[in-house]
Amino acid sequence: MNTFDPNAIAVRSGHFIGGAYLDAQGPTLDVARPSDGQIYASVPIGDESLVAYAVDNAWNAWRKSGWATMPPRERARILRRFADLIAADAETLAPLEALGSTRPVRDAFAWDVPFTAEGIRFYAEFADKIGGQVAPTDREHLGMTIAEPIGVVGAIAPWNFPLVMASWKIGPALAAGNAVVLKPSEMTPFSALRLAELAIEAGVPAGVFNVVQGDGRTTGDALVRHPLIGKVTFTGSTRTGAAIMAACALSGTKPVTLELGGKSPQIVFADAPRIEEVARRIASAITTNAGQVCVAGSRLIVERSIAEPLVERVAQIFRGFEAGATWHAHANLAPIISPTQADRIDAIVQATLDDGAQARCGARRATTDQAGAYYMPTIVENVTADSAAVREEIFGPVLTVQTFESEDEALALAAHPDYGLAAGVHTANLGRALRFVRALDAGTVWVNRYGRSNDFVIPTGGYKRSGIGKDLGKEAYEANLRFKSVLIDLND
Ligand code: NAD
Repeated sequence: MNTFDPNAIAVRSGHFIGGAYLDAQGPTLDVARPSDGQIYASVPIGDESLVAYAVDNAWNAWRKSGWATMPPRERARILRRFADLIAADAETLAPLEALGSTRPVRDAFAWDVPFTAEGIRFYAEFADKIGGQVAPTDREHLGMTIAEPIGVVGAIAPWNFPLVMASWKIGPALAAGNAVVLKPSEMTPFSALRLAELAIEAGVPAGVFNVVQGDGRTTGDALVRHPLIGKVTFTGSTRTGAAIMAACALSGTKPVTLELGGKSPQIVFADAPRIEEVARRIASAITTNAGQVCVAGSRLIVERSIAEPLVERVAQIFRGFEAGATWHAHANLAPIISPTQADRIDAIVQATLDDGAQARCGARRATTDQAGAYYMPTIVENVTADSAAVREEIFGPVLTVQTFESEDEALALAAHPDYGLAAGVHTANLGRALRFVRALDAGTVWVNRYGRSNDFVIPTGGYKRSGIGKDLGKEAYEANLRFKSVLIDLND
């Protein structure tokens, strides 16, 4: 299915606790479709007592359902079935995801749903592969570590890739034998509920995977602070991440994984191979999901001798985008999540232009036949390190351009005072590429590519204020375990 009628999609709202929907009384939030701004449903705002009910359910299920104690291969088998059900549910999940988020339905079919399923499958495979270790002690002792689940993991997800971000949290947590209470973003709350239904169908015991709905201030904060939450895993903005880290410290020194914001550079040398391909890469790194991607390559740093033709080629590609609703197959520029966010993007662009920068293209809302907010892919030149568009995470399709003549200059421009999420370097010179891999202060460096590959083995996570810990890879699995040290005296 590449096009669908948004009014024909049935949406089930509510919390999902203890294996069933719970339609709580109390305040609710309207939920709008980003594509046309129409309010299509509402979600309850879970208060402290609702969150406590969910966490108690998860805690009891963790202790009594057998999830944590069953043979790990059996847990893996259930999770593989969960992954199969997600993949087989694309006809429901993909339109549901596209309806309420910025994800075009074509992409939701081709990537979001299969990638979500594969993320669960990847972590299922860890369930019986990673345990503890026997330590090389003296002959008088046997020393070892035993890997144990933590208990109940509180997971908080953002709106930009609702299904995929949820799977990166729940996959490793469940495979390691934990129970999970997930709070999706209040702007994209519904696809997570479908995941919870499928988990039950797959055989995940009731209460092991729960979804609570609500905003960050009320529901998210109550979840983070609940005393029975053993670990918090969060993806979202740097500011919220800091608040969550403080709350974790004050409510039980809980371990926390934080995947936060970025302002990632793409550095292009004049010797970069296949320059047409480089131009396409640069464009796609800032226009995918309309730039609403944590690792968006938002700062082009290009060697002066090729800057003009390269930037003009990227501008040509930018001018070819067609904005449109996520349910239209022809549109290739996604909506911005909300009009408020589109206003914020424009305010940063206009402030940068007021400071003396120039826009080569874009710098305005896109016009469509939809009432939603869309923003034209934008190139801003003649900026400085202090320009708002260079400093701030914009979370929109806005690319700044800075030029250099030496490696040192390129490195100095690439450094950001706060963020260190990802970086790309494009060059045919192997030595230079490796010098940059070493010198760039970023959690991920891509060489002659930009963006993750479709496997899960390479962990992702930021340096500095871009985060703590890793999603994906073996690292995310291990971060959902505790390791108990055991020392046995072998003397009679
Ligand atoms: P956000 O921080 O506003 O919200 C994220 C989630 O946190 C939402 O579910 C929200 O309800 C909840 N929340 C808000 N305040 C809270 C509080 N005080 N306590 C507990 N929960 C709270 O972020 P967003 O706007 O949804 O997402 C965009 C941000 O996410 C960008 O900064 C982006 O870079 C980042 N992001 C990072 C990665 C990564 O892997 N590093 C991936 C995707 C998105």
